[in-house]
Amino acid sequence: MDWTRSDTIGLATAQCTSCRGLGLKGGHADSTQPCNCVLRAIFRACFARFRSIVAGGGSMTRVSLEANPGRERKTIWGRKDEEFAADFTLVSERSLDEFEHKVFRYHFLLGADWRLCCRRLGVDRGTFFHSVYRIQQRLGRVYRELQPYALYPLEDYFHATGAHSEARPAHVARVIPIRPPLAPRDKQAPERKAA
Ligand SMILES: [Zn+2]
Repeated sequence: MDWTRSDTIGLATAQCTSCRGLGLKGGHADSTQPCNCVLRAIFRACFARFRSIVAGGGSMTRVSLEANPGRERKTIWGRKDEEFAADFTLVSERSLDEFEHKVFRYHFLLGADWRLCCRRLGVDRGTFFHSVYRIQQRLGRVYRELQPYALYPLEDYFHATGAHSEARPAHVARVIPIRPPLAPRDKQAPERKAA
């Protein structure tokens, strides 16, 4: 994916010394690669959403009706929150190596602080924080570039109507009026006589 300024500018850190708030690598407007500050911002946004879903615990979540743009035009019921939480953890696991996934699991999923993580993983503080940055940057990119359904932008993930929908004329159904029911024959006869 080629990144443009419109993808990055709202996410870049204003004081970033690398991109100077532009969000593109090296601060060059014609670059097609994002700055690390943008990738970390994407990770943080997705992680915050994941945490809020998990904090909801076992409470009932909203079931949403999604339009399916396929030929049969069926609609699908989905639990978007659960789907997002599952995608977030699965995609992250797939994208990290063994050590990084341990860091991800201990620090982000289980909430262990750096001291506990360092002791558990047998690494120093510098190594731990370097790996945290690396994880955020790698996953931020994966969440945004994931095909066919990226986790970010969150708005698109949660309100997707299908990535391959096409504009097409609305189908107008022809209305066929239904004849009112006839009265049973035995009742019909006396009425006719009366008339
Ligand atoms: Zn930057």
